[in-house]
Amino acid sequence: MLIKGAYGHSVGKRPWIIGDETISGLMADIVGANEKEIALMNGLTVNLHLLLLSFFKPTPKRYKILLEAKAFPSDHYAVESQLQLHGLNIEKSMRIIKPREGEDTLRLEDILEVIENEGDSIAVILFSGLHFYTGQLFNIPAITKAGQAKGCFVGFDLAHAVGNVELHLHDWGVDFACWCSYKYLNTGAGGLAGAFVHEKHAYTIKPALVGWFGHELSTRFQMDNKLQLIPGVNGFRISNPPILLVCSLHASLEIFKQATMKALRRKSILLTGYLEYMIKQYFSQDKAESKKTVVNIITPSCIAERGCQLTLTFSIPIKHIIQELEKRGVVCDKREPDGIRVAPVPLYNSFHDVYKFINLLTSVLGSVET
Ligand SMILES: *Cc1c(COP(=O)(O)O)cnc(C)c1O
Repeated sequence: MLIKGAYGHSVGKRPWIIGDETISGLMADIVGANEKEIALMNGLTVNLHLLLLSFFKPTPKRYKILLEAKAFPSDHYAVESQLQLHGLNIEKSMRIIKPREGEDTLRLEDILEVIENEGDSIAVILFSGLHFYTGQLFNIPAITKAGQAKGCFVGFDLAHAVGNVELHLHDWGVDFACWCSYKYLNTGAGGLAGAFVHEKHAYTIKPALVGWFGHELSTRFQMDNKLQLIPGVNGFRISNPPILLVCSLHASLEIFKQATMKALRRKSILLTGYLEYMIKQYFSQDKAESKKTVVNIITPSCIAERGCQLTLTFSIPIKHIIQELEKRGVVCDKREPDGIRVAPVPLYNSFHDVYKFINLLTSVLGSVET
């Protein structure tokens, strides 16, 4: 083997100092962006903070951040702490939209109404692209358009959307976005995260915190301490890319390139549709006999409003269901109080997997009922 030493930084197919840049084109395809609009860096919540530091500039009139109810805890805390950083009152400045009484997911019309009525006081709209618990896919272009018409910046946390549904961040005009790579992108826990800033902001939105990887590569190593900031999101990079994390992401993105998001989504719609059909067929209210367990799907049934995940709730406590499923070799994701998230993933799950799951669930419910 060739001994590279410090040359590893600058030579080879994937030099370390541009490890992230060598794969950003592959990621850009997955989120529907230009290569210059995305940076691969840090963890998701770190990126969310860095983006909010630049996009959330509250004024006495425009000081709120709008987000969905039961947002992922990390996002919720990030927003709370950003408000605190500006000395704002959380009750007044954190505007949370809840589903209607008796409903599990948000209606687009209700989101748009809040934006219409309160948009003048909202600085940033921050939604998840796809809600981690309910599996609801939000209408990203409609929310973006409505928010921007009111003068708000509109950003999305795409943790559960990336690698799951097709995204067109550039064409939708989304202001900023961030995501992780260890859910549908399979890079392993703590994998390298992504950030997007639309090119329209390349010269106007600047990073609040700067490090040397935000400096133009051509002069970065002159070490003269005169910052030449890279325009756009690449100027937000602070440190060396972590090359080991770049490698696992690279391997994953190569597979996505071969598979293509278009084909994956096409299969995903059928695969999740099949799961939904089977659950309704065997476990819905009108199908189950009176004493049987009823399984309810809280994820929207409209395919434009969901990815591959269905969140199931049960008419009995889920603890035993989970235990029995695990005995049969199915590891499911449980969420209190009563939800199980089931996500047939088109990249590696088959229709037969769904069929087997339904059979196992039938056997589990049979055993907990008797
Ligand atoms: C998974 C997930 C996170 C995790 O954040 P990390 O900073 O990667 O630990 C944050 N937000 C959402 C919406 C998530 O789904």
